[in-house]
Amino acid sequence: MSYKVYINGEFFDKENAKISVYDHGLLYGDGVFEGMRSYNGKVFRHEEHIDRLYKSAKAIHLTIPMTQEEMMRAVNDTLAINGLKDAYIRLVVSRGVGTLGIDPNRCPTAQVIIITDMISLYPQELYENGLGIATASTIRNPASSLSPRIKSLNYLNNIMAKLEGLQAGCSEALMLNHQGQVCECTGDNIFIVQDGTLLTPSPDCGILEGITRGAVLDLAREHGIPCKECVLTRHDVYIADECFLTGSAAEIIPVTQIDARPIGDGKPGPITQKLIALFKELIA
Ligand code: PMP
Repeated sequence: MSYKVYINGEFFDKENAKISVYDHGLLYGDGVFEGMRSYNGKVFRHEEHIDRLYKSAKAIHLTIPMTQEEMMRAVNDTLAINGLKDAYIRLVVSRGVGTLGIDPNRCPTAQVIIITDMISLYPQELYENGLGIATASTIRNPASSLSPRIKSLNYLNNIMAKLEGLQAGCSEALMLNHQGQVCECTGDNIFIVQDGTLLTPSPDCGILEGITRGAVLDLAREHGIPCKECVLTRHDVYIADECFLTGSAAEIIPVTQIDARPIGDGKPGPITQKLIALFKELIA
């Protein structure tokens, strides 16, 4: 299926959806993005995603040439023109066309690209039996260098860690910060369960504040599951009763092994399963 792609207010067939090689998004990873999901024609936590996009843009001093309302409408229009109800949406705002130097002031207008496509989740088997992850030696960008709260087009930090995970035979890798504290995985946030309490690294640890992470914390609070945002070490993950990852594409996926050690009894735990069921209700 060839979906139409939105570029700066116009729709192009996928094959013809092209931008300049002088775009600083390509030349320098200079830009921001969002990965969103729509369920039954409605974008999940749409406003929150758009808010995060505009905050990321603000942080890198990038002016998005449309309002948040116009952006939400453009996302909805892209879904509609493609007849998509359950989709993955990739929204990219790059610094735009400039010169070969890095000076962002030489890029007069940001480019807005919206790609909608079918979702690609992990295989069903992993949702049932859990995923194995490995700790990467690549540390997460310190916030003082490039804040992980900015969802920027510069994903090399995560890609370096992802390569390590893949080399260890795992499809996700755990990233620690420069103090050895647990941050997140390369494209997902991490949660553990210890003695019935749900724990996840706090934003201060240097993470992207995932929208799915926020939804899971809300679900836990609404359903009386004790939860806390705190500092976690790799040791906490090693001795956890349960572990799972969250992300717009992955939703909630159990982790049953880390660095070749089984987590809990090596099977997805009851709180993980409860949250997966509650999340399914939320998006139904
Ligand atoms: N951390 C990182 C590094 C990510 O790239 C993502 C999104 N893929 C997440 C966490 C999860 O965020 P969200 O739930 O908003 O998709």
